[in-house]
Amino acid sequence: MKKHNFSAGPCILPQEVLQKASEAIINFNDDNLSLIEISHRSKPFVTVIEKARRLVLELLSLENKGYKVLFLQGGASAQFLMTAYNLLNKKAAYLNTGTWSSKAIKEAKLFGEVVEVASSSNNNFNYIPKNYTIPTDIDYFHCTSNNTIYGTQMKSFPKTTAPLVCDMSSDIFSRQLDFSKFDLIYAGAQKNMGPAGTTLVVVKETILGKVTRKIPSMLNYQTFIDKESMFNTPPVFAIYTSMLTLEWLKNLGGIEFIEKVNKQKSALLYAEIDRNPLFKGTATKEDRSHMNATFELTNQALKQQFDTLWKQANINGLEGHRSVGGYRASMYNALPLYSVQALVDVMQELERIN
Ligand SMILES: *Cc1c(COP(=O)(O)O)cnc(C)c1O
Repeated sequence: MKKHNFSAGPCILPQEVLQKASEAIINFNDDNLSLIEISHRSKPFVTVIEKARRLVLELLSLENKGYKVLFLQGGASAQFLMTAYNLLNKKAAYLNTGTWSSKAIKEAKLFGEVVEVASSSNNNFNYIPKNYTIPTDIDYFHCTSNNTIYGTQMKSFPKTTAPLVCDMSSDIFSRQLDFSKFDLIYAGAQKNMGPAGTTLVVVKETILGKVTRKIPSMLNYQTFIDKESMFNTPPVFAIYTSMLTLEWLKNLGGIEFIEKVNKQKSALLYAEIDRNPLFKGTATKEDRSHMNATFELTNQALKQQFDTLWKQANINGLEGHRSVGGYRASMYNALPLYSVQALVDVMQELERIN
């Protein structure tokens, strides 16, 4: 039986997507060739990448609004520098909500002045700072919508006249937002869209071309816009599997549908964390993530017992990030509600036997 997979990333993908992706490895499109041995410029693959682009815009309701969809490599981590390389002339503002934001800030500092408008580092990033002021003389404002490691999520986004740039790696396609408020969204595929190997970038073309520096071709968004993500060989398998996942999501009813399921899942788990005296949540309640729930045992002596129980229950990937410890249940789009129920059952079993 497939495990209940709470892995934070790479993460669970829909079973039917895995099935189709594995078939395409052997025989793609009934052409007696593998997806990964045909030219990326051949008609069958061009059809795939075009469909993936369309699905992204459709699911995010960004059609005909001047956005370009790119499938790049180097992970979200390469976007930490690429955003700054392409957008930062003099000064940018960043909200620091965790490890990923901090890494983005570090890279941006190589290219210009970085104002950290607020940081939740004083409390191990267990909340989202609010009521900060964003300077007006900036090239862009950058934030991280969901903090995968700490289990916090931005429920609203600040108003700014500067372009809004957001790392949505771990919650893109999970909830409805007015995506047209963002000028550049990036996301490593392996959290909620597909396998590792490609990074989604959705960018409003009008914000580009404003920096004075020269940008190497491979790090220039315009290169990939002009060449439709085919300046060099794109990660064909990651793009194909992402396309399948987007298609799966669309057929389910899109973001509107999956958001309801995601809220059901997180509500079920947080209710148990709050009810069960053996557990406590680590993120501030109002900022809790619907994707990654972080929690701890109130009595560390029960660790071995709990770990044995959840492993016996066919659960995978519940360990907290190595930098924070504790537990983290990642409930991405493809995780079924019954997997969360299986975890809740284990938590109740621990209470019962103690
Ligand atoms: C995982 C993650 C990253 C890093 O992604 P890579 O693709 O491994 O570079 C960046 N930001 C967030 C929010 C993440 O969850």
